[in-house]
Order: sequence, then structure tokens, then C-alpha cells
Amino acid sequence: MLYKAIYKIGVAVRNPSMIKIFSFLKESDKWSEKRLMDYQFERLKFMVDFAYGNTTYYKEKFDNAKFSPSDLINMEDLTKIPFLDKTDVLTHNTQIHTPATSKTFTAITSGSTGESLAFKRDEHADSFNRASAFRGYSWYGVKPWEKNGYFWGFNFSFSKRIKTRFLDTLQNRFRLFSYREEPLHSFVKKLKKTKYLHGYSSMIYQTAKLINRSNMSKPAHIKMIKGTSEKIFDNYQEEVKKAFGTKIVSEYGATESGVIAFECPEGNMHINMEGVLVEEIENEIVVTNLQMTSFPLIRYKLGDYIQLAPESKQCKCGRKHRILEEVTGRIGETIYGRTTEYPSLYFYYIFKNLSNTHNIKLNYQIVQNERGKLEVRIEQMMLESEKEKLKEEFLAYFNNDIAYSLKDDCTLQTSNSKLKSFISHL
Ligand SMILES: [Zn+2]
Repeated sequence: MLYKAIYKIGVAVRNPSMIKIFSFLKESDKWSEKRLMDYQFERLKFMVDFAYGNTTYYKEKFDNAKFSPSDLINMEDLTKIPFLDKTDVLTHNTQIHTPATSKTFTAITSGSTGESLAFKRDEHADSFNRASAFRGYSWYGVKPWEKNGYFWGFNFSFSKRIKTRFLDTLQNRFRLFSYREEPLHSFVKKLKKTKYLHGYSSMIYQTAKLINRSNMSKPAHIKMIKGTSEKIFDNYQEEVKKAFGTKIVSEYGATESGVIAFECPEGNMHINMEGVLVEEIENEIVVTNLQMTSFPLIRYKLGDYIQLAPESKQCKCGRKHRILEEVTGRIGETIYGRTTEYPSLYFYYIFKNLSNTHNIKLNYQIVQNERGKLEVRIEQMMLESEKEKLKEEFLAYFNNDIAYSLKDDCTLQTSNSKLKSFISHL
């Protein structure tokens, strides 16, 4: 196995602690809820102590808030710790970093919703993050070195493409560079021996549609399809299953936090409790990275709306890791009515109501170019009765404060292959 050997050498050089962390995570995968929570509390205490003792930022912040790490007696005391937000980590970037004790890598957030953040991630945290993802892969019998197809944007210059191809080859990876017929055919040919697919779900969906409409032969050995960083519409699944034989599972995470949750084969997103501590406060995620010492993130407002399942919810898979019901949207995107402002989360509710109450499943994209007006684009062809229901929902949320134009049967726009469900030009 050439690729396995290449992979192992890569790990030994870049992430020497990963193998050990992976075995730990496979073990803790079977832990009881109590044991997981005890572990989380131990790590939290460690991180809080460490941040207080090794950074000027947390020292001052905690002192100002009259919080001492010794106040942390049990998990309830967590609420005494002040929040950290995006502005804090950008403004006090240097003061949050701790003196390096091991190898670090520079991590940069995409900055698609604001200024991008750069920070140093220590080798342990980097390896922990990789191992967390690979534990998720293992639930589907996927080994990271197996042949995989990657969907991640088309924007490549020629020289960058050569470099990308080379790095892809090392990782037994190939990617789709264009939806044109010839590259698509060659991509589909390679799918025959592919074990897993990953990347933007909108691209996976587009490719699935093209495969289903053509007479190309369908891949038969795909064990897992992992979608990241954008909304997975309900409608995608049917098309994707038809083309690839299995549905898209979601991984939720962020550059700052690492893997936050991974969907199990029973369809529940389990929180990566060993790596992160997740709180839901007023529908918003607050996350503590339990492993990264180079740049401690304690009670960090990541900027997503989420919904945690009730603590009592059990999963058939047997894992006791807390379940994340849904990631409902990004914070800070505002819809402007003529007189009032609304959070973009409203779109989520509107389309969820349509799906749950009326069984109308739509792939949508909403564009705002001016105050009080929205352009609603729907991929499906809609019946008059469906349009009426949509109108009712919009009325319920926006009254007559916003007018909208509706276009059905249209292609949703992607920027650099990432599909945004709300685009505001205001
Ligand atoms: Zn499960």
C-alpha cells in the first residue's frame, strides 16, 4: 500500500502525536456521559489555569471580571468566565498567544464574513483536530489514505493547478476542476475506485445531478460523503444518494475551534466533547477549545446560531456525546426592511416551516440589493399553491415591511464554488 506508507510518513513528520491521540479518541468514543463530562471539566480547568498563567490578555481579563481560576469548582462556574469574541482575538492577537513550547502551524480563517484571523496552532492541537476528523471517518470504515474525491472550488491559476495536482496525488486525492463535459467524465471515471468524497455540498449536489442526467456509470464503492462549511439542503440528499449510493453527512467545525461535531451513521451530529466545550446561549454557539495551548480560546463566540438537542436525547449508535441538532445560520447578517432590521436566521425558519409543515422542500438563495426589497431565487419549479404558502410565510415574518420578487426554476449562484443562501449588497 503505497498511499498508506506515504500517509504514515507524512504523519510522522508533520503530526507525530496524532497516532496516540487517535487511539485515545477511539477509546473515549465509548465513554459514558459522566466520564466525558469529567474529562471536559478537567481540560477546562487546565486551559483556564494555563491561559491565566501564560497570557497577559486572560490575566487582565479575568482580574477585571473578578474571576480567579480557583473559582472554577464545578461546571456551573463556567458562566463566571467572560466571553471572548472575534474583535477580541483580532485586537489582542499577540497578547492571547502563549510562548511557544512546541512546533506550531499558522492557521488562517477564511474571512468570508469579515476580517480574517491568523494565529499559531500547536502541533498537539493540530493533531487532535485531524484525529477528531479521522475518528468520524472511522465510523464509516474510511481510512484517510484511501482514494478520495475532493470538491473545493475551481479558482486555480495554471501553476497553482500543477502544485495542487501534485499535493493531491500524494494524498490519493483527485478533484473536480470544472463542470465541463470532458473534465467531468474523467472525474467520474476515477470515482470507480473511490472510497470517499468530501467538500462543498453544493458542488457534490451539482455533480450528482449531472451524473444522474447522463448515462455515465455510477460509482459503487463510496463509503462516506462528507459535506463541510455550507448548508446541506434536504433536497440534495435524494439526488446525491441516487448518484453515489449514499447521502451527505456533515462535519461542523471552524479553524479556531477544530472539529465541533461529526454526524454518525444514525444521522446525529455528535459533539466532539474531548476537543471542545460547547454552550448554547441565546441560540448562539459559545465554544471553548480544550486542546489548544498556543492560542487559548475560552468561551469564544464563534458567530453561528445553533440548536443543541435536549441532554436526554439518546442516539441509537450508542455514543454518549451530546447531540447538536442543527447549525441554523451565521450571526451578523442582517435583512433590511423599510423600517426594521431582521436577522438572516428568519430565512432559515421560513424555509424550515415550509418543509416541515407543508412538505415543500426548496433550495433557495436570497439577494438583497436595496432596503425593503428581496430577490428570492428558488431552484425548483414551484406550483402556484406553493408560491402562496411561501408568501404567507414571508408575511408572517416581515409583515409588509419587505417586498420580494420570486424567481423559480433558476440556477443558484456560487462564488468560488461556495453557495451562500443569503447575499446582501447593503
Ligand atoms: Zn450517534
